[in-house]
Amino acid sequence: MERLKSQDAISARKGLSGTNAANAVLLDHNHANMGDCIFCKVIKKEIPSYIIYEDENFISFLDINPKAFGHCLVVPKEHYDDIYSYREKAGASVIDAIRTVCLMIKENMNCAGLNVVQNNGRIAGQLIEHIHFHIIPRFEKEIGVNKRDFKAVLRMIKGESKA
Ligand code: 5GP
Ligand code: ZN
Repeated sequence: MERLKSQDAISARKGLSGTNAANAVLLDHNHANMGDCIFCKVIKKEIPSYIIYEDENFISFLDINPKAFGHCLVVPKEHYDDIYSYREKAGASVIDAIRTVCLMIKENMNCAGLNVVQNNGRIAGQLIEHIHFHIIPRFEKEIGVNKRDFKAVLRMIKGESKA
């Protein structure tokens, strides 16, 4: 409800209605928090990260606070706050990017399974308001996340060392 009310307010301010209003809202929502967005800074390499995969439209890097051994994120490079505002660019499939990283992890970490998780809203656990997908490898026997450093995990996921 809150979101709808603020959308109505933006549309009224711009004198828009219908599809035009919806598109204007989308743009406002899309770019609202870009300025100080941590993931935009990671994408621009202003903040360092352990990069697993990168192409024109997506980047994948290790989560700084891993919930499991090999926990990483897949992030569209264009800033959208969440799943509600997200739009795919032609020829830029987020599921393809996710699958690429999942296959790297499955093959090189030899995990028994993995979860793909995407949070929307504080109540759902979303802390960073730039859409992202968590990839969480699962092992038959839990592996402590502090046992190996980020560089070693990165090497393993990229197939540069054995699981
Ligand atoms: P969320 O809770 O928003 O779904 O997930 C955000 C994730 O981003 C968290 O798991 C958190 O550990 C991770 N994260 C936050 N800041 C940084 C950062 O600067 N670098 C990296 N690599 N991960 C981050
Ligand atoms: Zn961003």
